Amino acid sequence: MNIKPFSKLIFIMNNKCNFHCKYCWPLKGDDIISEAVIDKALKLLLSYFQNSIQVIFYGGEPLFSFDQIKFIVDNLQQNIKKDCLSFDYHITTNGSLLSEKVLDFFQIHRFQVVLSFDGYAQNKSRKIGSYTDLSQKITKILNNHPGIPLATNSVFMPQTVSYLFQSIRLVVELGVKDVQIAFAEDCIWDDAHIQTLKSELIKLVEYLSEIYYEKDVPVNLFKRSEGKVGEGVSRRFQCMGGIDRMVVDHWGDLWGCFQFNEYFRKTLDPTVKALYAFGNVMDERMDFEENYRRVMPNYLKLRQSVFVTTENTSCFLCDHIEMCSSCPVYSARLSRQIGMIPVSHCQFQSLLSEIKELYSSYCSSQNISMEAP
Ligand code: SF4
Ligand code: SF4
Repeated sequence: MNIKPFSKLIFIMNNKCNFHCKYCWPLKGDDIISEAVIDKALKLLLSYFQNSIQVIFYGGEPLFSFDQIKFIVDNLQQNIKKDCLSFDYHITTNGSLLSEKVLDFFQIHRFQVVLSFDGYAQNKSRKIGSYTDLSQKITKILNNHPGIPLATNSVFMPQTVSYLFQSIRLVVELGVKDVQIAFAEDCIWDDAHIQTLKSELIKLVEYLSEIYYEKDVPVNLFKRSEGKVGEGVSRRFQCMGGIDRMVVDHWGDLWGCFQFNEYFRKTLDPTVKALYAFGNVMDERMDFEENYRRVMPNYLKLRQSVFVTTENTSCFLCDHIEMCSSCPVYSARLSRQIGMIPVSHCQFQSLLSEIKELYSSYCSSQNISMEAP
């Protein structure tokens, strides 16, 4: 390839975790990425990356592989001068293994840390007793490690949705400037839960509207989604897998997005690997460029306009298509088919569209931006 399509290099460091979050779907185990896989992956892939690269670490809990993270960073830092590359490091962690030593390392290399923290739902949804530890760590990072850009990701499920507003307000008041909200959509949300979600989100919109100028905090549910292509009526969602990113998993398999790795490891569906894996870095005979040309058309087909629901309704004909960004692989956790969206997910998307429009019309009336600074 004489082009450099990628700007995001993602490592799945392991499948090991010490939490048992109720909504966590991926398979757990004791597999950790090896230095041999890392070495091969960097040698194979770096020449396909633009000069400025986001390096993202996921798990399991990636800090079980702190030595391997250091190995990757040391290796990449050697390329900074040689190849004029720059690296921007990101990690998503449950926070339990965030020691001073780890935080110092993050501060030196300016890691952006996304802390999984569900606020007042933490002890119910993630791990009993972890609320106090995590809220103290948030304060400590903000006070003692100002060089670490800190974000939080809070996940709500039907059993914890009534904690949403208070939890997000808590995170904002703790001082976090980048607040992400996600939902466990691969479970049943009945009408009562949807109503609770709606009233929690409306309370949140009202609160954010009041504090916007004072705290300047973007809450990512209301940011524009990446993967929206085109302008105006043609702004439709496109999966970005393989377009600007490449994932190396702890077995050395290459994917366009971590979602494919998680889905494949859990379902072991061989067609998923045949259609969406770009090969394995330990395979000496692998021809990455040939694989990329063969596999990439399958990713490019993953657009909102071609998705259908489990009731056989086409997204193309749906009124919400411009606001919708349905991950086709996440949806498959329920529907068992990539690109088929469970109808329960549509309910969600409609509600989120409604709330986003509410927030967006408030922002336009006040002449403020929905984008993160
Ligand atoms: S749509 Fe899903 S699979 Fe595609 S890049 Fe986004 S998260 Fe990954
Ligand atoms: S609401 Fe459902 S049918 Fe409509 S675009 Fe979104 S996923 Fe498709």
